[in-house]
Amino acid sequence: MESTADQSADTTIVGGGFFGCMIACHLAEQGQRVILLEREATLLDKASYRNQARVHQGYHYPRSLITGLRSRENYTRFVSEFGECVHTGFEKYYAIGREFSKVNAAQFELFCKRIGAPLSEAPGPVKALFDRGLIEEVYRVEEAAFDSRKLAALVRRKLAGNKVQVWMESEAVRVEPRAGGLRLHGKSQGRPVSVQTGQVYNCTYGDLNGLLRASGLPLIPLKHELAEIALVEPPPPLAGLGITVMCGPFFSLMPFPSTPWHSFSHVRYTPHAGWNESAPDDMSPAEARAMGEPVSKVEQMRLDALRYMPEVGRVIHRKSLFEIKTVLPVNEKDDGRPILFRRDCGLPGLHCVLGAKIDNIHDILDEIDNAGAPSTRHAA
Ligand SMILES: Cc1cc2nc3c(=O)[nH]c(=O)nc-3n(C[C@H](O)[C@H](O)[C@H](O)COP(=O)(O)OP(=O)(O)OC[C@H]3O[C@@H](n4cnc5c(N)ncnc54)[C@H](O)[C@@H]3O)c2cc1C
Repeated sequence: MESTADQSADTTIVGGGFFGCMIACHLAEQGQRVILLEREATLLDKASYRNQARVHQGYHYPRSLITGLRSRENYTRFVSEFGECVHTGFEKYYAIGREFSKVNAAQFELFCKRIGAPLSEAPGPVKALFDRGLIEEVYRVEEAAFDSRKLAALVRRKLAGNKVQVWMESEAVRVEPRAGGLRLHGKSQGRPVSVQTGQVYNCTYGDLNGLLRASGLPLIPLKHELAEIALVEPPPPLAGLGITVMCGPFFSLMPFPSTPWHSFSHVRYTPHAGWNESAPDDMSPAEARAMGEPVSKVEQMRLDALRYMPEVGRVIHRKSLFEIKTVLPVNEKDDGRPILFRRDCGLPGLHCVLGAKIDNIHDILDEIDNAGAPSTRHAA
């Protein structure tokens, strides 16, 4: 790491998650001098690690055709570019609940046909794992999981190869206009730093509004959820399987490849709290984090999920990952996951990025390359 009190760069990236790191590499590859600031001591350790690790292929979004279609396209690109970080060594099944589901089996089949996502009937022994009184149908699908620790290692190599200056334990605090660009002020390992820069990419996911608020700029309306991803040891019959029950207050249990365990989440119990942030007085993710981690709801998840799939009753809880999940309020109804890309967000040269899901990196990089051209991407 190299950091001094006062430096300059063509582009400064705030946030060393998957999106910030990949954007940094992309711009450095184009010949820009890039500095990246990450508040924590480890790259890709926040939302880019504390998630469900699903490489989306569209199945998850039967209420948003556009997200389904974009996921299909990006899945192929993601698996081809990040293949060494993608785990496909398990069978993946989607099941449709009979009651409380927002789609039925016929609608799910039609949706998969429309987006061209491969779907076939699950074999008998897999169907037999479910309570067929509560589950209408079970399908075998093609979906993968990513290993976020391998992704972090790959990204670190790319950053070094592209000579991006990475400042760890460095927090961007505020940005202001200066002749010829912007001045970013922050702290690096406890000392004040500032960077004179042509442009700033704010890639801080749930903390996007932190930099805007401290810089006196209008906030972006965001919806936050304090989410729990439980990591569990599955019983032997579920070890090689990934299961998702759609589309309502159900659960998902699938490999979490950077550990020997499965991630376990439940639409009703994974969110511990939810709130909107659009005005300066609204609670920020930093304030929510300061309240500490809540008590795990894994037992509620287990007791509900075992009604649909009795073997889930035998999962063993190993640990839970808590993270603030951030989405656009506009997607609350359809559950879509477009990117947010706000160019010149309150200040010329300050760009805000919210990736929403890992494979959306391709949409973001395309959007950056198409600067100035009318956007045809799945962007909000
Ligand atoms: C519970 C949950 C489940 C999810 N499941 C999936 C899934 O299955 N599949 C999928 O594709 N996507 C999933 N997602 C979404 C996915 O995780 C995110 O889209 C992606 O990780 C966002 O990457 P990022 O780089 O934008 O954010 P992050 O990885 O959070 O990186 C942002 C970085 O910014 C740093 N930072 C913040 N403020 C500052 C500052 N002021 N100065 C310096 N650094 C700062 C943070 O420390 C952090 O490292 C899930 C998300 C959550 C939370």
